[in-house]
Amino acid sequence: MNGYVGFSNYPNQEHRRSIKRGFNFTLMVVGESGLGKSTLINTLFESKVYPTKEEIATSSAAAAAAAAASGGPQAAKTVEITSVSAEINENNVKLRLSVVDTPGFGDSINNDSAWKPILENIESRFDAYLAQENRVNRSKIVDNRVNALLYFIKPTGHGLRAVDIEFMRNLHNKVNLIPVIARADTLTPQEVEQFKARVLADINFHGIQIFRPVSDQFDDPDTIADNKAIASKIPFAVIGSEKFVERADGTRVRGRQYPWGIIEVENEQHNDFVSLRQMLLRTHMEELRDATDVALYETYRTQKLLALGH
Ligand code: GDP
Ligand code: MG
Repeated sequence: MNGYVGFSNYPNQEHRRSIKRGFNFTLMVVGESGLGKSTLINTLFESKVYPTKEEIATSSAAAAAAAAASGGPQAAKTVEITSVSAEINENNVKLRLSVVDTPGFGDSINNDSAWKPILENIESRFDAYLAQENRVNRSKIVDNRVNALLYFIKPTGHGLRAVDIEFMRNLHNKVNLIPVIARADTLTPQEVEQFKARVLADINFHGIQIFRPVSDQFDDPDTIADNKAIASKIPFAVIGSEKFVERADGTRVRGRQYPWGIIEVENEQHNDFVSLRQMLLRTHMEELRDATDVALYETYRTQKLLALGH
């Protein structure tokens, strides 16, 4: 199924209605350099996202200016925020996808406030939406709110690091947080299981809320089972690859080649890529958009208006 992303398969009626107009989805990726963020995005979207024209968001220009002003090689590496958009058409469904990347996050010696520019960026998108809602003509609202954030955890085997905990604690009530264990092929299957348990324990201990598929009384048994299966994989241990490798039967699949064999991206025995894609793009895309609007944005909006004394 080369070239197929899968969002157009969404069965929900609600979604069917938005098909004609198409819909927006904004995905942010965060994690230190080299963890495979760009590769995973290209794997998820079948190389339809990078490379395209990159536009640097305004906040990164300000960050760059501030870095230049503080000057010198000793200056801390700053977090940049860049955004790339792509329009993907599939089965007559139009997805306007924006991928927001945050290069530089976690790359400094001191990452104490690395989460701040990212929080500011997410909030400024809420503010932009709020400003449009308050206009008289609301027919052409542009929705650039972040619908999901993939947080890449370094596969250390030792649980979450301080930088991970700080980030998630400060962002979890502003965005749908989806933690993923990056470069899962660098751990053995047993190490992956142990690491997942540690990461989950840390997430619970710190009261961090992450996005999980949940069933309700209206779901049929198949949906309930699917949701359970996906939830059991959290935090998804993923691998990405821009390359195709040859299997023993001669077929070519996305994967990574090793002297001892290949690891296939879309093989559920090898990693959780398929479950992540299923949740993010096929079964829960609409839920992520709803949660952004009804829960996260609404909370932000209420607090903001109260603070302003309305
Ligand atoms: P980014 O800095 O987080 O965007 O990372 P990149 O996507 O640029 O990847 C950095 C390097 O890691 C590249 O050489 C990739 O080929 C490699 N890489 C990406 N994903 C994986 C993975 O899942 N496993 C392994 N072993 N390497 C990966
Ligand atoms: Mg990158």
